[in-house]
Amino acid sequence: MHGAGAASRRVRLTPPRINGDRLWSRLMALGEIGATPQGGCNRQALTDGDLAGRRLFADWAAAAGCRVRVDAIGNLFVRRAGLEDTFPVVLTGSHLDTQPTGGKFDGVYGVLAGLEVIEALNDAGMTTVHPIEVGVWCNEEGCRFPMAMMGSAVWSGRLPLDAAHALTDRSGRSVRQELERLGIATDAKVPRQPVKAALEVHIEQGPVLEQRAKTIGIVTGVQHMSRHEVVVLGQEAHAGPTPMDMRRDPVRVLAEVLPAIYAAARERGPDARLTVGVIETSPGSPNTVPGRLRFTIDVRHPDLRQYRTLRFEVDRLVRGALKHHDLEGDIRCVWEAPGVVFHADCVDAVRRAAATLGYGSLEMVSGAGHDSCNVAAVAPTGMIFVPCAGGLSHNEAESAMPSDLEAGANVLLQAMVALAAGA
Ligand SMILES: [Zn+2]
Repeated sequence: MHGAGAASRRVRLTPPRINGDRLWSRLMALGEIGATPQGGCNRQALTDGDLAGRRLFADWAAAAGCRVRVDAIGNLFVRRAGLEDTFPVVLTGSHLDTQPTGGKFDGVYGVLAGLEVIEALNDAGMTTVHPIEVGVWCNEEGCRFPMAMMGSAVWSGRLPLDAAHALTDRSGRSVRQELERLGIATDAKVPRQPVKAALEVHIEQGPVLEQRAKTIGIVTGVQHMSRHEVVVLGQEAHAGPTPMDMRRDPVRVLAEVLPAIYAAARERGPDARLTVGVIETSPGSPNTVPGRLRFTIDVRHPDLRQYRTLRFEVDRLVRGALKHHDLEGDIRCVWEAPGVVFHADCVDAVRRAAATLGYGSLEMVSGAGHDSCNVAAVAPTGMIFVPCAGGLSHNEAESAMPSDLEAGANVLLQAMVALAAGA
């Protein structure tokens, strides 16, 4: 095919490169929208701020010659034509919504790095065989409407459109109402575009790359994760007159369970994650034996066997402690997200790009969920991580080095050009 030949000749002659200054200045410009006093961003999904951010991005993309479209759940796609424009697209993108006290880089970086890929191809006068698209997934954060990665879940067919439209925020406004208020057609039938391969570049949101002094994380998958809630019922009693052996104290269960579950996590190796993020007693008085205890256990592991074993152990240890202390209670799984193994071709494209460009890299598994988990259900997918300062994210102090952001975008560019070159 003469198109493919022309594209690969051009790659050798003038390798396109990201303009790091343009990327940084656009990150800062988007950071102005919904800026918080502490230097972060509050651009929650489908607010006026979110819309303003999407508009600014769409304007930049249109000026770069892209076609812009929005689907019925508010995902925004911009498209740069390929030499074979009916071929499946090579997709990248992330999200522009933030936490209430979010940073300037989580999600935004992946979207603007995608746009930078298009700008760099324009600057180099280069055409790819496959079309290239950058997606802005709607409501990734799930803080306003309680469904993280909502837009990509609908797009991939994992969440029915009606169920997503019916989600409401704390004031009772629905996703459908907010989409319509922002002028997004909720009945538009936008079929899912065929995707040859998808990549997402994101700040790591953890400390590993920084501590190991590596620039690029080659993400091989996303770990298995689940959240569990434990409730233990006791009996309220006065802290003074009631002898220890005559109490029904639910905190005894916690005291037995904590060291046991941490030991179980340790046995599953350094990749295991176990977090007790909520511990509540009621009535919550210093001189009353609590009548009720509630705590949560978040369990994660990249290896399915190890993950299942740890989940099983946590369950067994909690039930054992309830029995041991003869207290009523239960442990139940309130949320579970299966792990993802990214596609070998995509992981390899990232690995090669990092090596070609000479960046220090590390293969790693993502500890957090991303839109790419949903995309991976329907298309070959991979991810690229870059370091963020101190591993901080979901924090107004979130920060990243311009040189690392430029490096990650160049890896994205190089990997996408490779994936978009052939049939
Ligand atoms: Zn994100």
